Amino acid sequence: MRIVGFGQDDSKQEVTQQNRTVTVASPVRSLVSINFDRMNKPLTYYNDQFDLKPGDRVFVTGKLEGEIRIVESVTTKFRIRISDYQRVLAIAQTPIHGTYFSTGDMMLSYDSEALSSDDFHQWFLPPVEKAEEPEDEVIFGDGFEIVMDDPSASDGFDPAVFDRAIDYCRSGRIGYISVRNGVGKAFISGSHWYEVDFRLAGNVVKEAYCDCPYAGLCKHLLAVAVMLNAKQHHNEIDLSRNFTLVESNRFWNMARHTRQTVTL
Ligand SMILES: [Zn+2]
Repeated sequence: MRIVGFGQDDSKQEVTQQNRTVTVASPVRSLVSINFDRMNKPLTYYNDQFDLKPGDRVFVTGKLEGEIRIVESVTTKFRIRISDYQRVLAIAQTPIHGTYFSTGDMMLSYDSEALSSDDFHQWFLPPVEKAEEPEDEVIFGDGFEIVMDDPSASDGFDPAVFDRAIDYCRSGRIGYISVRNGVGKAFISGSHWYEVDFRLAGNVVKEAYCDCPYAGLCKHLLAVAVMLNAKQHHNEIDLSRNFTLVESNRFWNMARHTRQTVTL
């Protein structure tokens, strides 16, 4: 086992880690300067929702919406016309805790404090401003059920969709899977991020739903079942335990920026 440090431990974050509480600072109005790789100079955004500090990772409104970026500098001395500025929309505060093992192209942890689905969501799924119009009503039928070592027996199985699911497993599109006390959550990236909810009972993925537009047994649901089955088949995971799987590239991207100590 090897300990890898990412920068210095922040004493405030230590406290947060021990008490398992999150302290939300009251917002401080500020103008923040943010560097975007493809822009020649930093852009300035108005912030009235957070107490931002240089180094914070944020999402903004406007044409660069959906890109997570680092705050370079912050000032509270300003006078602006509000309509001239895009705003800071959300902040990603996702410390990584726990012990992770490398299994293929995913990092695996059995720790209860390992990355939660909410944390993953906050980091990788850009927030959207609330839409004006009311959302469509979503109607649920029975959830899908997939026996992991025999997915072709599932209701609604389509071999062509299954092939796409295999491609998804191979190409790192499964960003996150966790199961806590039988309740599972996964995030899979395609043209958008899609969210899968399921229950895991033995080697059966059941009561499974995906929020993608496809009404039937979709490639995202199948991909989750195929990935878990492959890892179990290769003795890379104990599915009877609570576990968290995070795609390696995304894991290291987060670890690089969170100044936490991760045990490998
Ligand atoms: Zn889907």
